[in-house]
Amino acid sequence: MMTLATKPTPKAISTEDHIEKVELYAAHNYHPLPVVVREAEGIWVEDVEGNRFMDMLAAYSAMNFGHRHPELVAVAKEQLDRVTLTSRAFHNDQLGPFCEDLARLCRMEMVLPMNTGAEGVETALKTARKWGYLKKGVPENQAKIITCTENFHGRTTTIVSFSTDPQASKDYGPFTPGFEVVRYGDIESLRKAIDANTVAFLVEPIQGEAGIVVPPQGYLKQAFDLCRKNKVLFIADEIQSGLGRVGTTFCCELDGIHPDMFILGKALGGGIMPISAVVSTKEILDVFKPGDHGSTFGGNPLACAVARKVIEILETGEFQRNAREMGAYLFGLFGTLSTKKIKEVRGRGLWVGIELHVSAGKARPYCEQLIHDGLLCKDTHEQVIRLAPPLCITKDEIDWAFARLRKVLS
Ligand code: PLP
Repeated sequence: MMTLATKPTPKAISTEDHIEKVELYAAHNYHPLPVVVREAEGIWVEDVEGNRFMDMLAAYSAMNFGHRHPELVAVAKEQLDRVTLTSRAFHNDQLGPFCEDLARLCRMEMVLPMNTGAEGVETALKTARKWGYLKKGVPENQAKIITCTENFHGRTTTIVSFSTDPQASKDYGPFTPGFEVVRYGDIESLRKAIDANTVAFLVEPIQGEAGIVVPPQGYLKQAFDLCRKNKVLFIADEIQSGLGRVGTTFCCELDGIHPDMFILGKALGGGIMPISAVVSTKEILDVFKPGDHGSTFGGNPLACAVARKVIEILETGEFQRNAREMGAYLFGLFGTLSTKKIKEVRGRGLWVGIELHVSAGKARPYCEQLIHDGLLCKDTHEQVIRLAPPLCITKDEIDWAFARLRKVLS
């Protein structure tokens, strides 16, 4: 069980005091559940009052390897004692090995590192447009990128330009042109949208923020083939679905697809450093010349050192295997649940969306009740409870969590 470092308890500030400060001084762009975390290890977190909770969200997959994974913490500490940032004005000794390792993991040739997921997506969009003009011969400023309904790719003004969630775009216009949205999972809708100026199709292999929405069987492969036929880049946003979550290194593997471009983020930094990346072929990423694109922190040695260890851990396959085995076990437990509250349980690996019937009420009160029982999970899109524990979760821990889920869902 949890062995959090024993430190003298700081002068107690209560949960209410912390939340009041956040309410007062932080912009209200989130509505967190009322737990103030002070420490964490593995799949467990402890709040400022000393209460323990099982983390069933794993920072939206950024914590795939568990809180403070000892090897990741060790490599970060080691790197902190050497060099943390050089900017890209100079070389650093971590960038080259990181790009080599990540290209190998992705079976690709080149890497463009950034920091946040949204920056990774922006980079992929810029890459696709540039590739369209330089390599596909699309007339200047005519490039079109196709995206999907209910997508979530981040929060920049360009990305919210093609969001179908009204809250994501309301009051942020004017928007970036050059995008067309097609129905997720509907291959005919994609077929109709592709034209001579289409440079890319940007898709989440499973839509996380939309409520762990799995597309129909065969959709991704058909979409991939359609892209191939029309010289359209297939860009897989695997920021949330990738790096072990679904029981394989990449979610695209489940459909036997190797995209033209991966966008990665979240777990790539081991929950320690923000690092994202676009990973692709030389033919595609070679469109950039010095000065075309960049970021002060992109490819910094601290993030690269941690990410190299993440890649090493992923190459053992240990977390993917556990996600497969424990995921199958968890889905099996849902089969034993007798309840009228659940409309559907869906997902892959250790990524589960529990959609409640409208008659059962909204998901948030269930999450609030689960907190009282020691389980941290999060509602999404009103009716869905999302489960995404760190991938190191054990069978006993799943039993522990499921007993609590059974209680509130029965
Ligand atoms: N793409 C996907 C699929 C995501 O799930 C997210 C975040 O949830 C993002 C992009 C944006 O990542 P970030 O919040 O790091 O900008």
